[in-house]
Amino acid sequence: MSKNSQVSNKSRNSRLGVAEIVLAVAAALVILVGLPFVSQSQPAAEITTEEVGENMFVLFGRGGNILASIGDQGVLTVDSQFPDMVPKYRAAVAALGGGNIDFTINTHWHFDHADGNEALGLGGTWLVAQAHSREMMTKFNIVNTVTNPPTEQPPYAAVALPVATFEQRMELHFNGEQIDLLHAGPAHTMGDAAVIFRGSNIVHMGDVFNNSGYPFIDSDNGGDLNGMIAFCEAVLAEINQDTVVVPGHGPVAAYEDLAEYIVMLTEIRDRMVALIATGATLEEVIAANPTANWDASKGDPFRLLNRAYASLTR
Ligand SMILES: [Zn+2]
Repeated sequence: MSKNSQVSNKSRNSRLGVAEIVLAVAAALVILVGLPFVSQSQPAAEITTEEVGENMFVLFGRGGNILASIGDQGVLTVDSQFPDMVPKYRAAVAALGGGNIDFTINTHWHFDHADGNEALGLGGTWLVAQAHSREMMTKFNIVNTVTNPPTEQPPYAAVALPVATFEQRMELHFNGEQIDLLHAGPAHTMGDAAVIFRGSNIVHMGDVFNNSGYPFIDSDNGGDLNGMIAFCEAVLAEINQDTVVVPGHGPVAAYEDLAEYIVMLTEIRDRMVALIATGATLEEVIAANPTANWDASKGDPFRLLNRAYASLTR
């Protein structure tokens, strides 16, 4: 059994039968693609590269999408995926003409976006994140996506922790452009950062914007549906119709995709709030099918509804 499965099973409710565990693990393996978290037990992934601007590349691998700026001053990436992916995307960066990764900004603390930090820190990369995300990296966390077994995320080694943090905004100037880090309150987690490359006109949204299905709201760790909508609106106000929008997961998107995502989440939220106001339980909300308009394109809404219900009834 994989490391992840062992860790996950340990943390599961002891009433769970062996058959259910087997089913859960099998289901997790079957539906991995398109989920915001990719199990550590998944077979080895390779890096594929998409050019999204001059000296700007999205590196797809295993875990959150990486955005790389490779220029005269050096290499800056957004997010770090998993330890085993670090040598692979270092090689991809080298193939694109880059050297060592000088800076990495974490969009948030979740393992599939930040577990690569340790290898990067050991290699001399300076790490940057929103203050709450750094705090979470120092703690023992459990990430419960409901549809997968919960994942334990142990505290990071000192070398894997951000050396610079910010609360609401931070400005970097690198490779000839201004890079704005923006935090707009609890959303996917409590420590999300959108990273806006002003010259290239590209934003990395982290998991506040998921383009691989319905988003996950980490409501056990302060994630919030209302906050996710507000966060996306705050970013939308900062960008323009030509901005390239890089999601935490899924294919590269555009301004209009983010705008439609906000409309979708707002309508789902409004329907859920109306149901909850009548005293509806989670089961009754699910039965009312408030996501009906989008299920054909977005898939199973269970995880979103479960986590959104938790955040709306908190
Ligand atoms: Zn995440």
